[in-house]
Amino acid sequence: MENKENNAIELLNMLCGNSGCVISDSGGKDSSVLKHIAMKTREKYNFNFSIQHNHTTVDAPETVYFVRDEKRKYEAAGIKYNILYPQRSIWQLIVDHCTPPTRLMRYCCADLKEYSGHGEKLVTGVRKSESKNRKDNQSIVTFPKPKQKIKEEAKSNKDLSVNKQGGVIVLNLDNAETRQLVENCYRTTKTLINPLIDWEDDYLWWYIRKENIELNPLYSCGQCRIGCIGCPIAGDKRWAEFERYPKYKEAYIRAFDKMLKERKRKGLQIFDKWATAQKVFK
Ligand code: SF4
Repeated sequence: MENKENNAIELLNMLCGNSGCVISDSGGKDSSVLKHIAMKTREKYNFNFSIQHNHTTVDAPETVYFVRDEKRKYEAAGIKYNILYPQRSIWQLIVDHCTPPTRLMRYCCADLKEYSGHGEKLVTGVRKSESKNRKDNQSIVTFPKPKQKIKEEAKSNKDLSVNKQGGVIVLNLDNAETRQLVENCYRTTKTLINPLIDWEDDYLWWYIRKENIELNPLYSCGQCRIGCIGCPIAGDKRWAEFERYPKYKEAYIRAFDKMLKERKRKGLQIFDKWATAQKVFK
């Protein structure tokens, strides 16, 4: 089997060996593999990293407890582990924005998940095989909101490409100048490094079993999804989540009630299908 583990270790050391990095921990399986790889890189190269988790205020309780356990475990091993809490909860954001988050209006991601990581090399467990969006828009290194200088560089550098979202992705790191670009830009431009980008699902699960990596207990309950409860991207899976976590359903309905009052206060239209908080929820 191709030695993807070794490639990921070498990539981490090559891109972050001098500066260190922040490993982003979502509480999911990809993050658990990534932390494991970072520890192996540390053993081999005395690699310096910290870990960060963005608490979203709408995580499954199992994820909250798992992340706290991971924090204890990694801190005991001498690794700094930060849990970041957002300024506004999802319940407050719903009222602020006067609308629930939807597939097309995912305003909450910016406030709950994407506000950190500037001026750092943020290492993620993003993989292309997870979605077509990631396949098209992510690569080994991604600048999600590049400065104009990087966009200009992408026009003439065949190792760079502009993705559909206006970000710049690095296609090939064999070129020393391209590596230098990552080194020069990360302090001013959010820089995502994705060492597992080409790991297929089968390989990832095989590796988890081989290395006996501890996972979020939600994986052992079959249909469970790791991520925000009620996220619009989850589609119909949300209904099973609300069955499992009825308190979250109640919290959404309370937030929608406040949201409707705020819409009235601001003189915004109240649609028939949003006549009550229950109807908004449905
Ligand atoms: S609910 Fe969905 S869209 Fe909102 S922060 Fe969570 S993942 Fe992002």
